[in-house]
Amino acid sequence: MAGEPQADCLFCKIIAKEIPATVVRETETTLAFRDINPQAPTHVLVIPKVHYADAATLAAADPQITADLLREAGEVAAGDEVDGTGYRIVFNTGSGAGQTVFHAHAHVLGGRGLNWPPG
Ligand code: 5GP
Ligand code: ZN
Repeated sequence: MAGEPQADCLFCKIIAKEIPATVVRETETTLAFRDINPQAPTHVLVIPKVHYADAATLAAADPQITADLLREAGEVAAGDEVDGTGYRIVFNTGSGAGQTVFHAHAHVLGGRGLNWPPG
């Protein structure tokens, strides 16, 4: 069924606590944890607890949880105190854009200068 946990999904396993993660924040609908291969001093992944392949699919299925996700991204930035200097929220979508885990997730990046346009 749409949104149900997927047995072969890494992030569903992190939500189920089958794989450990450094959790930063948790709500009823979202989980935020540090990226295992950080690309900036702050690099946190914010994921919905429901499984959808990417951000746009999540938004089409559940606008409220999508809003929760974005609000939590802001809370993560404030918690790491990178909101003052600026941070970036990234949703890689599709393998050509670097998506490797097909469970929607926001990267929250900050704590260093961030180039524009991104690579
Ligand atoms: P994507 O490439 O799909 O946009 O982002 C997936 C992210 O998940 C990558 O930045 C990668 O470093 C991170 N990642 C992959 N496996 C794990 C893991 O087991 N734990 C954590 N915390 N992050 C992971
Ligand atoms: Zn999943």
